Amino acid sequence: MSPSQQTARTIPVINPATEEQLAEIPAASADQVERSVQAARRAYESWRRVPATERAALLHEVASRTRAAGEELIRLLTQEEGKPVPENEEELLWTANTFDYYAELGRHERGRVIPPGDPGQFNFVLKEPYGVVACIVPWNYPLLLMAWKVAPALAAGNTVIIKPSKLTPLTTLRLFEVAFQYLPEGVVQVLPGYGTETGEALVVHPDVAVIALTGSLAVGQRLAELAAPRMKKLHLELGGKDPMVIGPDVDLELAVKALAYSGLINAGQVCTSTERVYVPRGRYAAFGDMLAEYVRELRLGDGLDPQTDIGPMIRDAFRSKVDDQVQEAVSQGARLLAGGRRPPDRPRGYFYEPTVLMDVNHQMRIMTEETFGPVLPLMPYTDFEEAIRLANDNQYGLGASLMSNDARLVKRFFEEVHAGTVWINDPLTDNYAGPFGGMKMSGQGRELGQEGLDEFQQVKHVHWDIEAGVKDYWYPYGDRD
Ligand code: NAD
Repeated sequence: MSPSQQTARTIPVINPATEEQLAEIPAASADQVERSVQAARRAYESWRRVPATERAALLHEVASRTRAAGEELIRLLTQEEGKPVPENEEELLWTANTFDYYAELGRHERGRVIPPGDPGQFNFVLKEPYGVVACIVPWNYPLLLMAWKVAPALAAGNTVIIKPSKLTPLTTLRLFEVAFQYLPEGVVQVLPGYGTETGEALVVHPDVAVIALTGSLAVGQRLAELAAPRMKKLHLELGGKDPMVIGPDVDLELAVKALAYSGLINAGQVCTSTERVYVPRGRYAAFGDMLAEYVRELRLGDGLDPQTDIGPMIRDAFRSKVDDQVQEAVSQGARLLAGGRRPPDRPRGYFYEPTVLMDVNHQMRIMTEETFGPVLPLMPYTDFEEAIRLANDNQYGLGASLMSNDARLVKRFFEEVHAGTVWINDPLTDNYAGPFGGMKMSGQGRELGQEGLDEFQQVKHVHWDIEAGVKDYWYPYGDRD
């Protein structure tokens, strides 16, 4: 495809609650990618030299401009992504706060001084930016997951090009207008486009030093293939199949509420959604009944409606994939206690009823593959050792949750579970200072915390001999005593 043909491609943006088209925007062409990378490269030469306190002030400015435009951004985000307003209020707040957090962390230190090998020498480690960073973002948290990359990358002195998902580009474009464009020109750019075109053009560009992706395992693997021969730094936040273990001691009503939140927020379209649930055998039937009763009361609807608990899924194709997994499990012997269908009273919008499945097992795709929908499959366990074994029996290792107040079980769980984040009694709550990311096939690298800043800094060791004298270990060897 020639660049001129690519310029002609557009992206239709759909409201998933109504199926109406919100906008149609141009996709960035190969020419635009080239121009943007060159602009980012030029901007980098001055941005990397901006004093840290000045950079911090500019990032705080991004945060306050984001908050100031909050109402408009939240509405737009709800329209293009679908989740209810309270969830988007949280996303916006977290986005702004991430810029404030990295504004301060970025000016805190620039490396470390290390003990020299000789008293006349001085050794230190410098943390330096890489250059241009491509931030490739998914649709489920378009602002937040963008901020987790952009804020630390900028704080470290890099310049960035953001490629939002083709499904949700509008809020990011608007955020550029209300906040990013006040930064020096070229420091932040937004290039909406298709993954295989705009995305890949960024990934293979020789002047893009770091690729930071949040997305699916398949796309992460594709980027790894493209990055390997070019020796590019990759930062990958990929999929998950997070388990929740219900402890034998826990209050069931509390566990039902915690599980419903962690599995159904954003209609289950969260990388750390609870997608597998393990319940003590003796409490299994009662727990299933209580959960089914609870989720049947949750209200599906347009995210703009204040009564809505659960919004639509992002597109029909994603809903069909979820329904396929549910129906296949049922055909293999799973029992449907709630949901498992498109709501009959909502013919428009990509809604799917919150679903509770019992009698599932690890031969079913619903318990092995990422579902990314509002489905809670429950499996019984006999003892805690079995619960931990089942929790670890998956290729992913993003997050894991335990509901328990038994300190011995809690300790065993956080020590033995293979997951980048372990939540005890409060699933899915993040902390700016706490690194977020996955083990096993869930990715490489971490976002948030000091670790999230380190991802965008390369280290340089400086060895300085202050005395500048001739060394007795230099040539000629024959003169040595
Ligand atoms: P996706 O992998 O389809 O797309 C993610 C981004 O990659 C989009 O911007 C897309 O355009 C781009 N892309 C696609 N193909 C590309 C290519 N060949 N080259 C360059 N870029 C390309 O994922 P999605 O459907 O947008 O998001 C859902 C997935 O993201 C789920 O698997 C979910 O688990 C994962 N996710 C992970 C985290 C995390 O922090 N680990 C957070 C949210 C979502």
